[in-house]
Amino acid sequence: MLKPPIGILGGTFDPIHIGHLRPAIEAREALGLAEVRLLPNHIPPHRASPFCSSEQRLAMVRLAAAETPGFVVDERELGRDKPSYTIDTLVELRAELPDTPICFLMGMDSLLGLPNWHRWQELLDYAHLVVSARPGWQPDYPADVKALLGRHLSQDKQDLHRHRHGHIWLAGNLPVELSATGLRALLAEGRDPRYLLPASVADYIARHKLYQPTP
Ligand code: ATP
Repeated sequence: MLKPPIGILGGTFDPIHIGHLRPAIEAREALGLAEVRLLPNHIPPHRASPFCSSEQRLAMVRLAAAETPGFVVDERELGRDKPSYTIDTLVELRAELPDTPICFLMGMDSLLGLPNWHRWQELLDYAHLVVSARPGWQPDYPADVKALLGRHLSQDKQDLHRHRHGHIWLAGNLPVELSATGLRALLAEGRDPRYLLPASVADYIARHKLYQPTP
């Protein structure tokens, strides 16, 4: 008998915002996830360096999790000194949680770019993929992703409870038109970020003078 599924949301979280949190809360509700683990990336393989330190991004993710029932922080990738590939983390999690379906949460932008991920074809051997709608990113799939959906797309959420991995679920979440890039730009203009991220995270940013306008 399998345990209830959990969600994993990896990200740079520079900073964490409602575009990360609302779709994850809705996925937890819709799919009956036992918990959502926020997984801050240390050295993102496909991205430029983050603006804040790992410690600051982790502090903000911890504050967000503390405000959100059912959310916890998984710090494992920050503890590594080499690039963190999602596949490596999923292999590790699968070994730790042999009887738990794992739902890897991502936005539509990430699904469209999936063929650039390291060993992307193997991700579904370890987890399900739960894909949230994201404004600006249409389900206009490249051929590789279309083929993957053809093999793995599920219309029955029980598939994500009955199997430990191997299904893709397209979430019907409320679209949130926000990116960390947009939020950093807003902060760099000295504007008020209230309601775009948890209040405790906004306080942390103000206290530590992060993403401030250049004098
Ligand atoms: P940046 O603007 O710095 O590129 P970001 O806002 O896209 O950052 P990430 O930390 O890169 O945030 O995102 C982590 C995960 O959250 C990715 O799977 C991404 O698709 C998803 N995500 C981020 N913002 C949204 C959003 N507004 N709606 C749905 N998913 C989102």
